[in-house]
Amino acid sequence: MISTSRHSFENMGKKIHENLQKLFQKCRGEILTAEEVKKRYEKEFTNPDVMWVQASDHVINVGIKKDWHCCCVKTDKAIFERIKYGVYKVR
Ligand SMILES: [Zn+2]
Repeated sequence: MISTSRHSFENMGKKIHENLQKLFQKCRGEILTAEEVKKRYEKEFTNPDVMWVQASDHVINVGIKKDWHCCCVKTDKAIFERIKYGVYKVR
């Protein structure tokens, strides 16, 4: 049971990453708040997983990578660069 939910959680994270990538690939250099990221996601993809959408899970410049972060964190695949608390630049 645990492994199943863990698995689907990872799949969901992957899907969110792919959706964010799709959504922001044409917005390079734009500066957005975490709230704006969520709103754009919600507008584009009408599904309930918006509650899991956190720009901070997809940034290149974090201090320490945490378990809940997307696998893109601290890699070249990261979608955002953190400017300051709650503010992100599209890479
Ligand atoms: Zn990601």
